[in-house]
Amino acid sequence: CYLLSSCTNEPSPKNTFISEVDTIESKIDSILLKMTLEEKIGQTAQRGKSSRVKELPVELKDAVKRGEIGSFLNIMNKDDAKELQRIAMEESPNKIPLIFARDVIHGFKTIFPIPLGQAASFDPNLVQKGARISAIEASTYGIRWTFAPMLDISRDPRWGRIAESAGEDPYLTSIMGEAYIKGFQGDDLSSSTSLAACAKHFVGYGAAEGGRDYNTANINEFSLHNSYLKPFKKAVKTNVATLMTGFNEVNGIPASGNEYLLKEVLRDQWNFDGFVVSDWNSIIEMIPHGFAEDEAGAAEKAANAMLDMEMTSTSYQDNMKDLIEVGKFSEDKLDEMVRNILRIKFRLGLFDNPYFKPESDVLYAKDHLDAAKEAAEKSMVLLKNENQILPLDTKKSLAIIGPLADAPHDQLGTWTFDGEKTHTVTPLTSFKENHKNPILYSEGLSYSRDKSNKGFNDAVKIAQNSDVIVFFGGEEAILSGEAHSRANLNLPGEQEQLIYELHKTGKPIVLVLMAGRPITLGNIIDKVDAILFAWHPGTMGGPAILDILTGKTSPSGRLPITWPKEVGQIPIHYNHKNTGRPTIPEEFVQMDSIPIGAWQSSLGNTSHYLDVGYLPQYPFGYGLTYSNFKYSDVKILSNETKENGPIIVNAKITNTGNVKATEVVQLYFRDMVGSITRPVKELMRFKKVELEPGTSKIIDFVFTKDDISFYGLDKKWITEPGKFKLWVAQHALDNTHELEFIIE
Ligand code: BGC
Repeated sequence: CYLLSSCTNEPSPKNTFISEVDTIESKIDSILLKMTLEEKIGQTAQRGKSSRVKELPVELKDAVKRGEIGSFLNIMNKDDAKELQRIAMEESPNKIPLIFARDVIHGFKTIFPIPLGQAASFDPNLVQKGARISAIEASTYGIRWTFAPMLDISRDPRWGRIAESAGEDPYLTSIMGEAYIKGFQGDDLSSSTSLAACAKHFVGYGAAEGGRDYNTANINEFSLHNSYLKPFKKAVKTNVATLMTGFNEVNGIPASGNEYLLKEVLRDQWNFDGFVVSDWNSIIEMIPHGFAEDEAGAAEKAANAMLDMEMTSTSYQDNMKDLIEVGKFSEDKLDEMVRNILRIKFRLGLFDNPYFKPESDVLYAKDHLDAAKEAAEKSMVLLKNENQILPLDTKKSLAIIGPLADAPHDQLGTWTFDGEKTHTVTPLTSFKENHKNPILYSEGLSYSRDKSNKGFNDAVKIAQNSDVIVFFGGEEAILSGEAHSRANLNLPGEQEQLIYELHKTGKPIVLVLMAGRPITLGNIIDKVDAILFAWHPGTMGGPAILDILTGKTSPSGRLPITWPKEVGQIPIHYNHKNTGRPTIPEEFVQMDSIPIGAWQSSLGNTSHYLDVGYLPQYPFGYGLTYSNFKYSDVKILSNETKENGPIIVNAKITNTGNVKATEVVQLYFRDMVGSITRPVKELMRFKKVELEPGTSKIIDFVFTKDDISFYGLDKKWITEPGKFKLWVAQHALDNTHELEFIIE
């Protein structure tokens, strides 16, 4: 009925000969015919409403009535959303529904661990389930579009937004991206609980120089295709509905005005048919970038690059008509942009079902909280466990200390607009309710950056009166996220000092770290007996930590990012290229720093830091459990690559310990010689295996030539003949089980 002005309220007869795609496209044709230029430009406009303004501004309502707004972000009052949609559907010229967007990043009300933590689960099904739950909750507020997942490859933990990423690996990021998209979008995008996903930030935002947010990214062509673009390509294959450009420039061209990326790569090569939204004001940020003189110039560049929708700034609205009039932009191109936007509105079913049911009983539903607990549990990474201090002996009394033991807001992490801290279960609450270990509590420091040692005496006193210290430290939520980069990555405030004081009591210390990124630990590592990295674990972090520390569950998370010893080692990532220098012999690798002189005089110079060496604190893929695993019978079962068939790799995994535990078996490869140099290792597959003590499982990895191909000199994806190495490994630096094969 929105199609023809002459139509009545009768449902239109279904033409079974026309496919759904054709139907949508022809419906769009009819709408476009009726739209004025102003209405078309209106579809490209996304506006917000300041949360400080109580009433819906009249200008906004009038603009919707004229059909001059296509989307809103962050309208968090359900009545406002309903009223705006009513105006669009009943009073605007062509009755085109609005699409309401929100940053539903790792949960809506029920908050899951930060995305970097979820990546550590190496469990795409779990991630998909979390995203589904987030969509179910958010859609009750009229939200049908989320600005997630963030697929920026992040090799620099100084960058605050690393918390929102899946870490440094293109394969893991692609798999996690696919899981989020499937979860948000559901089986059927037109279902009222589905959210259009948004793969962001296209592209290179995570490569900000020095890890300083919004900074320039210089990424060579090969690295761009082989690493940074890969997760986006996968997202497009997974039918992601939308993409968002970045604030950054890539190799001199801002992402929001980048014709090569937005047209050639995204549309021509990948056939993306959803729409692209700018980031917040990122079109007009091309002016300070020095890429456009004024807003008209910025609009011209972004629109000609086919950036379909402008978030918050109004350069399209204010200039597009003139640009068309003087021939700097064309109405045909504008039609294409509007078509992309309407296509997604149709696929979301918004034309037929523009309103929403404000069910509130789904918010914080029991199964949502259970899923959040499971996600928190499976994301946690055990980094150290000496003297079998973990799991905790239930007979031992505990001194619970530290700024994050009872920090209901901070354990939610960054990007949690809607999760309410009143629903958070903190570790302190969980331990208190557990009634097993007797506990004493003293925060020691009232927040992570606290520089006062006022609370030290109390903390030391309770430590002296307990058997084991459990210290909850790390970063409060505000220390990571957008515009929250750090130059130092140590424990902020006086936390290190407090740990030193507690160490002097001679009591064993379990350090539970909550943070949005790896923390450089320095000497702290030697002062504590165990380290559990819990990320910012979300609403149900408390019970998840309790179950892990008390041994109800064995930790199973693995690092999705290389953990540096020192900030000076950054960028440090496992999938780097080799230098031309020889590898350091094992005896030096084992040492914390290489003895200056010995190495240089006997073997020549190599690529390392004199003070900290070149090895990370913990490698990518690393994580302990409460058990041990043995890998055996690691072999290539068949190699059919001559016939373009698969290679199958087999390994037997045995739980040799005393408790049930989960292993994340990782398959890495290296292309030994290439027409361009290739990384020393690349993750190709992983499998999670849960095993009872004393049991084994044979697992296989199957892959084809395509999985080891790369974007090469002739700008095509190729698999070059030659020697390849494979590792079935526990983490990126584990070379124990090495295999070789040849591609002819
Ligand atoms: C962020 C985006 C986010 C947008 C809307 C921007 O500042 O970079 O990732 O989706 O704001 O909130």
